[in-house]
Parts: sequence; C-alpha cells; structure tokens
Amino acid sequence: MLITNASLITWGENNQILPDQAVRLAGDRIAAIGPSAILQAEWPDEDVLDAGGQYLMPGNICAHTHFYGAFARGLAIPGDAPKDFPEILARLWWKLDKALTPEDVRYSALVCLVDAIKHGTTTLIDHHASPNAIDGSLDVIAEAVEQAGLRACLCYEVTDRDGPERAQAGIFENLRFHRSLTENPRPLLAATFGLHASLTLSDQTLEACRSAYAGGFHIHVAEHEVDEYDSLKKSGTRIVDRLAAHHMLGAQTITAHCVHIDPREAELLRASGTWVTHQPRSNMNNAVGAADVEGLLRLGVPVCLGNDGFSNAMWEEWKAAYLYHKAAHRDPRGGAGDTVVRMAVTNNAALAGVFFPQAPLGVIGEGALADLILVDYHPTTPLSAGNLPWHILFGFEPSMVTATICGGRVLMRDRRLLFLDEAEITARSRELASGVWERFAI
Ligand SMILES: [Zn+2]
Repeated sequence: MLITNASLITWGENNQILPDQAVRLAGDRIAAIGPSAILQAEWPDEDVLDAGGQYLMPGNICAHTHFYGAFARGLAIPGDAPKDFPEILARLWWKLDKALTPEDVRYSALVCLVDAIKHGTTTLIDHHASPNAIDGSLDVIAEAVEQAGLRACLCYEVTDRDGPERAQAGIFENLRFHRSLTENPRPLLAATFGLHASLTLSDQTLEACRSAYAGGFHIHVAEHEVDEYDSLKKSGTRIVDRLAAHHMLGAQTITAHCVHIDPREAELLRASGTWVTHQPRSNMNNAVGAADVEGLLRLGVPVCLGNDGFSNAMWEEWKAAYLYHKAAHRDPRGGAGDTVVRMAVTNNAALAGVFFPQAPLGVIGEGALADLILVDYHPTTPLSAGNLPWHILFGFEPSMVTATICGGRVLMRDRRLLFLDEAEITARSRELASGVWERFAI
C-alpha cells in the first residue's frame, strides 16, 4: 500500500518534517519513502491511501497502563472521599479489581483499545489485575489486543494482598503467558512479569518470582511515601535497594512512578539501566507528588511516559507533563517541551524496542514497523522540526487523528474503525460495568 500526499514527521534521532511525501508499506514494515510522484510512478498498482496533505507520523506509545481500570469511569466511592493514596488503593482499586470477571477483563481492554486507535496510540504496555479471575486473564486481553490490531506487552501483577494462593496464581499466569508466546510467537504481543509494588510483596514472594522467571519485571515503585516506609520496615532498605538485593533491576525492568526515591535509588536505577515511567495525570489525581523526572534524565535514567489507565490519548499526557512540573516547582522552566519529547518519543520507542525487537518502532524510516497515524492539523504559525513539540503541546488534539495503522494494517480510516464495532463494544461495556459497580458496592 502507498500512503501519498503526506507531510512526514519522522521522529527518530534526526527528526524531520518532509512535505509531499509517500510511504510504501509492505507486510508490517515501511518499505520505501520518497516524493509522492516518484513512488506512485514506481508502484502504479498499489492500493493508495491519499493523506490529502495531512501529517503522517509514528503512532504514540504508552509505557505504563491498566486496561482493567476502564470501568472506574463515573464510579462513586461510598463514604467520604479518600484522603490519600493508600485509601484510594484500598477503597477503589483493590475493590474494583476483585469485581472483574473474564468478560469484564475483555471489555475493559476493548474500550481502552478503541480509545487508543481513535486517538493514535499504537503500542501499550499494560499491567493487569483481576484477583477473582487470574488464570487465563492475559489470554483474554491478548485476544482483545489482536482483535483490535494494536501492539501490547502484557503482564499480571503478583501481590500478597489476597493471600498465598492468589500470589502463586499470579506467578503462574505470568509464566504461562510468557511460555505461550515463546512457543507460539504472535507479532503484536509481548510478555513481561508483573509485580504490584514492594508494599504488597514479601521477601518470600519476591524470591519465588525471581527464581521462576529469568527476564525483567514491571512494578510500581515509590508511588507514595508509604511504599518506602514499608520497605524500610520490612527489609531495612529502601525499595530500589530491596529490588536490587533480589536481582530484579536491569534493562528489561520497568519501575512505574518513582516519585519518592532518593538519590542513591536513582543511581541504582541508572547503573542497572532500569526503566522508569512517569504518569503525571495519575500523580496529580492521586496527589502523590511530582517525580524528579528532569533530575533522573540528567543522571542518565531512561524515563518514559505512561498513562496509568487515564485516556489513551497520549498528547493529553504530554500536556499534563508539560504543565505539572511548572506548577509543582513554581518554575516555568520545568517540564520543558524537549523533555516531554525525550520521554514520550525517544525513550518510549527504546522501551517498546525491548519487547518488540524485530524492527525499529516509533520512527518513520525504511525497515521500521509500520505503526503510523494521520493527523489533520493545520498550523496557524510556522511549524518546523525544532518547534514541533510546542505545536503538539499547544495545537494538536487527539481528535485530529483521522487514520491509525499498526503493523501495516489500517485500523481506522477517515475516523472510521474498520475492525471494531464501537457501538456494540460500548453498549456491552456499560452493561458489564453496572454489574461490576454492584459487586463493588457490596
Ligand atoms: Zn500503574
């Protein structure tokens, strides 16, 4: 297929904006790039998607999300509003996840995937919990991901909060899903090993996870101070030291949040090449504080951008990152546009490459995976590669995405979903969510 008459935003090491270009897709890759007239003359029989001058750019990547949280939208928490993050966990998330059945898990994922396609996010790194439906839950999500046609890395969050049997079931679910992909690779899917957070994991469970699995982990770290206090009480060390002692850091491990780590922990993350993900909308919503993302980046820690289950419109997360650090530090130099790009584009693409190493992601280049979006944006001021971050921050809207392509397959064209029935999915989701809400209220 040829996408013609596009203005390319290439991202990558040398970001360029190239007008009137065509891109030829072959299989799941970008096969050729060049002026529209030349590629059309060379490939006259290819199917053509005329971009009509729109911007063609790599799909967005989300480094940390929770599909299972979808039914929390509009859900009332009985009693007074939770006063801090531990209360939010106990009174919202640890009740909601227990109310999920396998079908709820499927539709929670599907509504997030619809949202991702519509708003231009093509790769998602998910972290799943459904304590009353653990076995096979990652298969259910994997089927939804393939049905949607997007790319995702999945894991199940192991925790001791529901007793040793469910901790063991969580371990098995991660191992089972990982093994199934090793035996039967599926190009849109990858697996890692999920851990909830240090504060709900005993040394014994950490040891069981480490000895059962050779790869990296995906874990929440120091989202709130209580996680650090718990680690000091349990182990006499802070969280990142504790994870290091269990040999859980490294270039395949993702530590989400890291709001309350200290300089030694940051250095341990850097030295081990461990990834950090930043979720500013979630951090603001839970009032847990602002991670020192600029300090971490300056140190050389690869900080990425996730959404923690907020909308899969990643430019909304860009805007939150841009504004949050200015407000939090009363310094307009905080959260600079190029810092946001470093997290959301450069580092997210590198992290996605850990799980999908077959070809470059997050860049328009020959041989890269064809995960692309068209954006109907009409700049009212000059737009260049240099000022693009600020056009995205102040001008782009998620609704400007008109086409989404993943692995060379067009999933949305002219804002129409080609493989998912949004009306059916949302109708069923509303039915299922009301059942979840009833069980949540008991
Ligand atoms: Zn999270």
